[in-house]
Amino acid sequence: MPSISFLGTGSGLPSAERFFSSAILSVDGRNLLIDAGEPCVHLLRDRGDVLQEIDAILLTHGHVDHVGGLPALLQGAMLLERTKPLTIYLPGEMVSPFRDWIRALYLTEEGLGFPLRWVAWIDQETVILGDDLSVTPYANTHLQSCYRPLPGANLSRSCDSYSLEIYHGAGRNFRAVFSGDLSSPDELKPLLADPLSVLVCELSHFSMSELAQVLKDASVGSLCLVHLSEDLAEDREYLQEKLEELLPKIGDIIIPGDGEHLDF
Ligand SMILES: [Zn+2]
Repeated sequence: MPSISFLGTGSGLPSAERFFSSAILSVDGRNLLIDAGEPCVHLLRDRGDVLQEIDAILLTHGHVDHVGGLPALLQGAMLLERTKPLTIYLPGEMVSPFRDWIRALYLTEEGLGFPLRWVAWIDQETVILGDDLSVTPYANTHLQSCYRPLPGANLSRSCDSYSLEIYHGAGRNFRAVFSGDLSSPDELKPLLADPLSVLVCELSHFSMSELAQVLKDASVGSLCLVHLSEDLAEDREYLQEKLEELLPKIGDIIIPGDGEHLDF
């Protein structure tokens, strides 16, 4: 049975109650880490052998609240004598800087004790992760709308950010989407044409009613809301009640907390 363990469900603001974005999707004994916000290595260690058993890390984009825990995770895997190969899927523009970042922290790839592979996402190109398990990245424009540019600043660098669609099962009967961060919920529309078992969606960069407008006719078994803006995080009961009222066709609406484990 597929399951998701939510390690960090906070927003990009530091919080004493919620950690940065990270979750484990487990299917058929395979574990995918979706984003690696801090302090995911500690939370993985708390969960026993999961740190050793992660098969792949899928990074939606390079914002620090989604990737800042990566070096500590690699160091932890090295110190715990992991030997199993690890593949990190990520935006292409991040590959070279991330390899430099790891090296600057004395995490020499050849010295980790396990093979490390970096694979750049290509928009809408499906990656096979194993038997009956695949992921397809869908580019979104989140990173093009999140700067506070100074007058005259040139922000023309490429800014890759993805939502991830994950299929599992011979009949592709389990279909999950992790929104990553978005600039608008409209960016989910191409992913809502077919029924979804699970949608893990952020709610920091747009309003609850904008999201409800996009989801009102969607077929979604479970909607998990994460990465809530501060005002929404303070009143989760109101958010839950309001969304259940606005989205009667959605099977379950869940606002998971850090450490929560859900089976689907
Ligand atoms: Zn972001």
